[in-house]
Amino acid sequence: MSEPAPQPPKKKLPVADAKPAGKAEGKGAKTRAGGWAAFTDGGTAPSWLVAARLVLFVALCATIPTILGVEHGNRLLWTVAIAALPFFWMTFGYHLWRRICPLAVMGQIGRIFGRPGTRKMGDWMGRNYLLVQLGLLVFALALRLVATNGSDVWLAAFLAVVVVAAIVTSFVYGGKTWCNFICPVGLVEKFYTEPARGSAAPEITSQCSPCVACKKHCPDIDLEQGYWKEATEPHAGSRTSPGPAS
Ligand code: SF4
Repeated sequence: MSEPAPQPPKKKLPVADAKPAGKAEGKGAKTRAGGWAAFTDGGTAPSWLVAARLVLFVALCATIPTILGVEHGNRLLWTVAIAALPFFWMTFGYHLWRRICPLAVMGQIGRIFGRPGTRKMGDWMGRNYLLVQLGLLVFALALRLVATNGSDVWLAAFLAVVVVAAIVTSFVYGGKTWCNFICPVGLVEKFYTEPARGSAAPEITSQCSPCVACKKHCPDIDLEQGYWKEATEPHAGSRTSPGPAS
């Protein structure tokens, strides 16, 4: 009799599930685990990724003083930092950026302080979030033309408003609501990276430990599946398509 074929390893959802050392059991306790545990995805993030996250977070904190205090600070933001984002996404991938984006960290401040938001976006936002993000993007681009491109003060104030909005969102809504529903850069990420084939990489996790299911068809869990599910669901922002190539 022939030996049974070895079973392939079980594919786990790519969601960080490690228990922070010394913390109590249970999803509720893990969800509220703040501080360094939250910053490091419950200790599951590799140290190089934590270091990159920390560096970019400090860089974001230094952005407003740089814009206001350094000659050509405004130019540096627009022509170096912002312009480098598409290069980064295309070179290093969507998931890595999602894990080290400093604005995403601002959108997790509630969790880092042990007070994560618990609300979820409703059905309307679930159907129309792409239009909301597009509206915010168009507003930001129009504002650039009339104010933030030429004025250091306007640009610094605009960034401050965005950061505060991300922080407030983190105390009210759970998971990565800021990234998934509101951040206009999230839409630009989609322009560049969707549809992504074979994007579900179990070793690449989101920042979420544990997952609180803030987003249906979460792109951090499976970018490709999220794209096709949303593309074939009827909603205001739906994209018509024959479906994924087999
Ligand atoms: S659904 Fe929300 S909480 Fe869950 S992995 Fe995705 S972004 Fe994180």
